[in-house]
Amino acid sequence: MSDVLNCNVAIVGGGTAGLALATALRAQGVADVVVLERDVEAGGVPRHCGHYPFGIRELGRAFKGPDYARALVRNAKAAGVEIRSGVTVTALHPNARLGLNTAEGNVELQANRVALCTGVRESSRAQRFLSGTRPQGVLTTGALQAMVYLNGKRPFKRPVILGSELVSFSAIMTCRHGGMRAAAMIEEGPRVTVRNFMRPYAALKGVPLFTGARDLRIHGHREVEAISFTNRRGVTEMIETDGVIISGQFRPEAALLHASHLDVDAGTGGPVIDQYGRATDPSYFVTGNLLRPVETSGWCWREAGETARRMARDLSDPIGRVPFVCQRSVDPALRFVLPQRIALTDAAGAMTQMQMRVSEPVSGHLVAMAAGNTVMSQFIDSRPERRILTPMVSLSRLGQAQDVEVKILR
Ligand SMILES: Cc1cc2nc3c(=O)[nH]c(=O)nc-3n(C[C@H](O)[C@H](O)[C@H](O)COP(=O)(O)OP(=O)(O)OC[C@H]3O[C@@H](n4cnc5c(N)ncnc54)[C@H](O)[C@@H]3O)c2cc1C
Repeated sequence: MSDVLNCNVAIVGGGTAGLALATALRAQGVADVVVLERDVEAGGVPRHCGHYPFGIRELGRAFKGPDYARALVRNAKAAGVEIRSGVTVTALHPNARLGLNTAEGNVELQANRVALCTGVRESSRAQRFLSGTRPQGVLTTGALQAMVYLNGKRPFKRPVILGSELVSFSAIMTCRHGGMRAAAMIEEGPRVTVRNFMRPYAALKGVPLFTGARDLRIHGHREVEAISFTNRRGVTEMIETDGVIISGQFRPEAALLHASHLDVDAGTGGPVIDQYGRATDPSYFVTGNLLRPVETSGWCWREAGETARRMARDLSDPIGRVPFVCQRSVDPALRFVLPQRIALTDAAGAMTQMQMRVSEPVSGHLVAMAAGNTVMSQFIDSRPERRILTPMVSLSRLGQAQDVEVKILR
């Protein structure tokens, strides 16, 4: 390490959240805001989502992903944000100090505040415990999109899509755009994950959809030749295919965190934050899909605007380290509760809502308890991958510092 660079706010990741945050910080009058992006261009995931609709709420009309990404970059530059692409952040050190890898070598950067905005990625084949042989031709949707939209390639003719999230349906679109026809869509869960309005899309495009598939197995030596599974009736199905697209089951891009001093939440897979969006080192803020899997770009954009207001306030009037209580799920069906900490301060600008997700269909009263008292209660009727919002537990109801436990009363 030779040089130490300096800036006021360093933003790690130039996707939707990082660019929206940087632009909004400038609008709040915050000077010297730098976005660090490892790719050759900023823009994040939308750069390779060559489909509509991005930007309706935030830019006033529907864009394809790459046009939307370019618009966000333009807006950030026009606001005076410095975007450094081709720079990978390799280490997070205490008190807003970063290790960077640049074309010129390794350097350190000292900021007053850092915002982490590294987004989410789909689970890999290994993370999904997929059995069978290990031939070429197994890709995530993100990798497929990058091949088709960024490099104009056609990796398969008749791939099979695993998963039934929104991104799995967008894989059908990507296949069609690239001159491929999906041979089938296979979901291991008992039902399709996506919301009802998207379900007919697969049938409309002539893609058979199987739910409740078990014992998935990939076949083929050098290249994928088939995929087999046990169907709902216990019968083995074998589908010939030349590629497998493993879609969804998102996880925060948290490699940096695991090697850092910041606490990581097992539920979200992202950093532990408080109601101001601060990580366990208060010089670090977090926004975008790194917080939790997974939200739309529009949601991340809006959330980043709120984070910018909190960061701007914290730069001029720091909250600093204050006592806090932890809140966590004590119910196996409740995957996560965000934020995971409540800082015991009434400083302005705190989140007004908590975010949660369930791991199975659930109907009942969601309750937050502290020291035996119910401090928040709300009826929910939800399914996996659906956003659940509840009012934030109020500090006045917490009384003395007691951890908050959240569960569902069926
Ligand atoms: C395959 C896929 C398809 C999706 N499709 C859609 C869709 O159709 N519509 C929709 O609304 N949402 C979609 N999403 C959700 C997507 O996460 C959001 O749209 C949005 O991109 C979230 O913004 P973000 O800034 O949190 O993350 P991202 O857009 O992922 O941006 C994160 C950025 O951080 C950079 N980065 C990561 N680590 C480092 C590092 N160490 N150093 C420097 N830079 C780093 C990455 O290169 C990236 O540019 C999709 C997500 C995935 C993974």
